[in-house]
Amino acid sequence: MIPKFLIEKLEGQYGEELSKKVIEGYSVERKVTFRVNTLKSNKDKVEKVLNENGIVYKKVPFYEDAFIIENVRENKIRELDIYKNGEIYLQSLSSMLPPIILKPKEDLDILDMAAAPGGKTTQIAALVGNKARITAVEMNKIRAEKLKYNLEKQGATCVYVMEQDARRIDDFFSFDEILLDAPCSGSGTLNIKDSKLEKTFTKELIKKSVKSQTALLRKAINILKKGSEMVYSTCSILQEENENIIENILKTNKVEIVDIDFKEISELPKLPTKIEGTLCVMPNEEYEGFFVAKLKKL
Ligand code: SAM
Repeated sequence: MIPKFLIEKLEGQYGEELSKKVIEGYSVERKVTFRVNTLKSNKDKVEKVLNENGIVYKKVPFYEDAFIIENVRENKIRELDIYKNGEIYLQSLSSMLPPIILKPKEDLDILDMAAAPGGKTTQIAALVGNKARITAVEMNKIRAEKLKYNLEKQGATCVYVMEQDARRIDDFFSFDEILLDAPCSGSGTLNIKDSKLEKTFTKELIKKSVKSQTALLRKAINILKKGSEMVYSTCSILQEENENIIENILKTNKVEIVDIDFKEISELPKLPTKIEGTLCVMPNEEYEGFFVAKLKKL
């Protein structure tokens, strides 16, 4: 059951019709998706393995290394050697967007501020071919272990893991590019079959997330080099965790929005956002609900 207060929030934000679509999006079983880990493999080899195993797939408009699986569930993919060897990484399509939008470049100091289990850290490492200095921060000890495991498995050798609260990173550090994939309520990815949803998805969870998102984004801007860009993302579709956080930082800091614009953006299922140039993805059978904003420090 979706908590009543969330339905009211969605209707207030998106109107009745779009909210219904969002709720439909929560209800469908999402297709299995993954990306090829180009540090260890390539899409031709992966396509060959899928074909040999009778696995039907579709390509993804914005990412040539990503696949949507049409006829099997995750357990079947996990049995493949290409999964066991770290040649592919199971990841939702929406969650592949922030690194693509960050467009990480070689030879730079890149910070991933909330990194575990490492889907985006390993994607960034692959996008730069291990040729950057990536710092991945994670404050939860168990999740930091999972992050290290995934980095090793994916062959992401250019990553240094910092096990600490990213809000306390020393201002002495500075970075050329930052990804803040912030902790959030998860309102874009709700599993409505979860019988405990009403107990776990609460107003307090949103409040706690907002507090932490605000502090993390402030820290990110402090340690981002002037003239450099960062990406803020959440798997929430609520304005208070997204646009409101961004509006706040635009008011208090010398930063500007960098328009998110790429050729295939029109093919994504989208929700309206109140800040032009930011992106909110609507949950459906292929995509999770997700928000992404790109900022430049002036
Ligand atoms: N970016 C990850 C990926 O793509 O695999 C997912 C990140 S998840 C949305 C947020 C992570 O941030 C969680 O692992 C959580 O433990 C961690 N976290 C929350 N608050 C943090 C903080 N203040 N400092 C560092 N990590 C934090």
